[in-house]
Amino acid sequence: MTQVNLSTADSAGDVGSRDAREFRHFINGAFVGSASGKRFDNRNPVDSSLIGYVHEGGRAEVDAAVAAARAALEGPWGRMPVTQRVELLYKVADEINRRFDDFLAAEVADTGKPVSLASHIDIPRGAANFKVFADIIKNVPTETFPFATPDGGEALNYAVRSPRGVIGVVCPWNLPLLLMTWKVGPALACGNTVVVKPSEETPATATLLGEVMNAVGIPKGVYNVVHGLGPDSAGAFLTSHRDVNAITFTGETRTGEAIMAAAAKGLRPVSFELGGKNAGIVFADADFDAAVDGIARAAFANCGQVCLGTERVYVQRPIFEKFVAALKAKAESLKPGLPQDKDTGIGPLISQEHRSKVLSYYDKARQEGATVVTGGGVPQMPDALKEGSWVQPTIWTGLPETASVVREEIFGPCCHIAPFDTEDEVIRLANDTPYGLCTTIWTQDLSRAHRMATRIEVGLCWINSWFLRDLRTPFGGSKQSGIGREGGVHSLEFYTELRNVCIKYS
Ligand code: NAD
Repeated sequence: MTQVNLSTADSAGDVGSRDAREFRHFINGAFVGSASGKRFDNRNPVDSSLIGYVHEGGRAEVDAAVAAARAALEGPWGRMPVTQRVELLYKVADEINRRFDDFLAAEVADTGKPVSLASHIDIPRGAANFKVFADIIKNVPTETFPFATPDGGEALNYAVRSPRGVIGVVCPWNLPLLLMTWKVGPALACGNTVVVKPSEETPATATLLGEVMNAVGIPKGVYNVVHGLGPDSAGAFLTSHRDVNAITFTGETRTGEAIMAAAAKGLRPVSFELGGKNAGIVFADADFDAAVDGIARAAFANCGQVCLGTERVYVQRPIFEKFVAALKAKAESLKPGLPQDKDTGIGPLISQEHRSKVLSYYDKARQEGATVVTGGGVPQMPDALKEGSWVQPTIWTGLPETASVVREEIFGPCCHIAPFDTEDEVIRLANDTPYGLCTTIWTQDLSRAHRMATRIEVGLCWINSWFLRDLRTPFGGSKQSGIGREGGVHSLEFYTELRNVCIKYS
């Protein structure tokens, strides 16, 4: 990413994201440039064309955003009754939907993902995240315990939920609006204020959300955005800021370790959704066509850039060859192309940098002796798209479990398929990883499904499905795939603190 150092600071006026060439911070209800004048390029992964410049936040912008968030907490937002807060969050969702096409265009330009995908998942879920958590906070009860006191009197305990305060929100690029609002929705519903550090790759929808917040009357300072990079930039400055009360992060496990170290200063709580190396398991008794469809989506959707995706597939031996052939046909049917084209089946990777990483794994697989069933390189693209971050959907077989493409998260449209014989064997293989995010298991044997679900070390277990999400359910990873659970009432455990009130009366 090219660093551009402007000689003078950009005008820190109320210029929003409508000026598509500039992505400014959103601090205290206004769009402002960086005091340092530092900016970096934002490029469209479809063809590497320049979308605009992103202002790189430093300590000054993080300090200003955290101060604005603190003031809003102590001001109108902190005093607002929950019913009013909830009504405002409904309006946020409605306004995202009213500006659906703007959000869609922004997300598609930043990520290159097919419109068919972003219009069904990213943007609708971005809006829904505000409504769902508004409903939850309105309806969730707390506990009460009346009890007899030793002196013969009575007392009543009741719990109240208080917001934690200023929440630092650090987000990845793969589902930018969806994953950011998955945190901002519950944080605001619970009465917190937020400072968001979007991924440097995808600044657009977080910026656009600032316009939405102003349009519906969310008080200034409640929602703030500081753009920038991670280490020694806005991400690190935000997570080490001592006036940030809690940090919620989605991204790589290694980044999580750095953020956890930063959060240790001041003992700030963290909620982490991290990397994975998820196993997909197909038994011989599975509905074959449904299993092929499900595993194809898990391996290739969003060009393989889904934390819940499947890069290790285990197929029971009697159907192994048939399954490999069917998945190969699926992979080869995914046509790379422009996001707007109806027959585009797969978009590009997020950036040239990420493409180099994915292609380095494609090389490693060959060096480690893989049979390349399909793909393994870069597709032929028309001249206009040649500079995009395209890779072929790729399937390997024949590797040992120790191979790096079987052990390490690649985050690309690829998977290794291995045969297995018994339930015990496949459980051992699936669990042999430091990660524990999710699994997708395909079988028609209900008893086996239950047995497997209890023995697989993951936070999310799908049976005969994948990525089927009910937002009221707990979401998160085991082992090195995360800390804590978000979703439904579980989000309240992180975004609020329970306070017990004990009243003695006679
Ligand atoms: P990343 O960790 O590189 O970056 C995520 C965010 O952290 C970015 O905003 C980045 O600027 C910031 N960051 C980087 N270093 C930092 C530091 N030292 N201090 C503070 N902030 C820092 O992740 P990514 O490449 O954007 O996303 C892909 C990863 O995210 C994959 O590992 C994927 O599995 C994971 N992911 C997990 C989930 C989940 O729910 N478990 C969901 C989506 C993505």
